[in-house]
Amino acid sequence: MTEHVVDHDPNCLFCKIVAGQIPSKLVYQDEEIYAFHDIHPWAPVHFLLIPKVHISSMAHLTDEHAALMGRMMVLAPRLAQEQGCNPYPEGGFRMLCNTGVEGGQEVHHLHIHVMGGPRPWLRG
Ligand code: AMP
Ligand code: ZN
Repeated sequence: MTEHVVDHDPNCLFCKIVAGQIPSKLVYQDEEIYAFHDIHPWAPVHFLLIPKVHISSMAHLTDEHAALMGRMMVLAPRLAQEQGCNPYPEGGFRMLCNTGVEGGQEVHHLHIHVMGGPRPWLRG
């Protein structure tokens, strides 16, 4: 049976990125959070924010994760600006969290897309 909340899933692409087994372009990391550039950017700035622990999706969150998810939300605007998103309100950024197959989720390790920069964008 697949465990949806574990420290590390050896078959998970993003767990392998956190472990350094697959290369990534680092944006930020601390004890709990890892951020890296999306390999197929939709926008001039496009990075992914993930928890270091393996949580399959938003659908698997519990109250225990509230502080972690809160930290990710608070971190996103700071990283967006550091990565070159223009300031609010003329600039700004978009956050996207695909959940489940019908939600468009392809990699089943919870991640928040952060996209920004001058338009037009490739998508989104
Ligand atoms: P989602 O459809 O929300 O699951 O998005 C998964 C995202 O992961 C896509 O935007 C991919 O471009 C991105 N992605 C897949 N493999 C890698 C990788 N090795 N490094 C960085 N981003 C990746
Ligand atoms: Zn994982």
